[in-house]
Amino acid sequence: MSDSPEPSETAGEQAVVCARCGEKHAPAAMMQERRIRDDLLEMVLVCPGCGHQVHCYFDSPALRGKRQAVQEALARYRAKRTRGTWHTYQTARQAYNRQFDRHNLRWRRKLGMYEGGHGERSSRGE
Ligand SMILES: [Zn+2]
Repeated sequence: MSDSPEPSETAGEQAVVCARCGEKHAPAAMMQERRIRDDLLEMVLVCPGCGHQVHCYFDSPALRGKRQAVQEALARYRAKRTRGTWHTYQTARQAYNRQFDRHNLRWRRKLGMYEGGHGERSSRGE
């Protein structure tokens, strides 16, 4: 009954386990931004222990602008919960998600980064 196992892992915040050295770090401490072109930023997780890099996602100034708009729409909805502000927030969020997916798919394809492509593995989970 009261034999609940202690959650020994960092509860709440998920840690990323490095595939090379096995060290665990918070994603926020590993995230680095790399500018590939003016309209293309790559977010990578870099292990502070051994420098191993894992691709996370592609970003761009346009996407950041959209993300900002989503945040602002959410803030407006939180300040004033009406059907109108909710709808504006949802619309902004969907537009952002679509653009994010398209951007990431397009650049993964262009750069030949399909899973199993060249040994890069996300080390999320086990
Ligand atoms: Zn490492």
